[in-house]
Amino acid sequence: MLTLTNVSTNYGKIPMLRNVNMRVDPGEVVCILGANGAGKTTTLKTILGLVRPVSGTICFKEQRIDNMPTHRIVASGISMVPQGEGLFPKMTVESNLRLGAYFERDESKIRSRLERVFGLFPRLRERLSQKAGTLSGGERTMLSIARGLLSEPELILMDEPSLGLAPVLVDEVFKSIAQIKAEKKVTILLVEQNAKKALSVADRGYIMQKGQIVLEGTTDELLNSNIVRQSYLHVERAKVGR
Ligand code: ATP
Repeated sequence: MLTLTNVSTNYGKIPMLRNVNMRVDPGEVVCILGANGAGKTTTLKTILGLVRPVSGTICFKEQRIDNMPTHRIVASGISMVPQGEGLFPKMTVESNLRLGAYFERDESKIRSRLERVFGLFPRLRERLSQKAGTLSGGERTMLSIARGLLSEPELILMDEPSLGLAPVLVDEVFKSIAQIKAEKKVTILLVEQNAKKALSVADRGYIMQKGQIVLEGTTDELLNSNIVRQSYLHVERAKVGR
């Protein structure tokens, strides 16, 4: 569905991504793990055309998208749940949700999409007329994910949905991601620092360091790798490799 081939980007003259190769198949949940500043968000921004590659290609459903404007990339079936939610705090929950369906003019389609996200996040229905800025942290994350689904994307990019949430809310967010996966309507590329949680829902993953992919594999392969156990799951060094 999505293929990045030897993608490199720069910020000004500073190199960022270096020869990134990545693929996401239909129906998968694929995670990108990595420390702060590794280039995870930059990878998502590059897919969306917000950062342009200096070399390499990006294909979505067999079509080159690396030279397309962002609105066309979004219209082709990709949406993003940005880091820090990206909500409009003074607008209501409903208005924020409807922005996700901005390109859809058919009210009955919008209504049925809203019903779908209320099935996933019932609390949003109860709070439709509440200002987004007054929602709790967990509710804001749910709203941000729900808005990302409202365009009915084929691929949704999620940028650290657990960021800043208390552990019980992190559990809720990942339960929702598992539910979205179970619906089998959308493919998910998930950027996370919470490796344990990300690997609990993902089928495969990539580890990024300093703009490069240093390891890729299935969830089991990653869970058994020294790099993930030491650096991301904090398994004691003595136990690694057993
Ligand atoms: P985090 O987990 O902290 O969000 P990340 O892996 O998502 O990290 P990126 O946001 O992709 O990291 O940033 C990678 C590096 O690029 C960082 O060192 C960051 O400071 C730098 N960077 C990001 N955006 C810009 C920009 N617009 N101009 C210059 N440098 C940038």
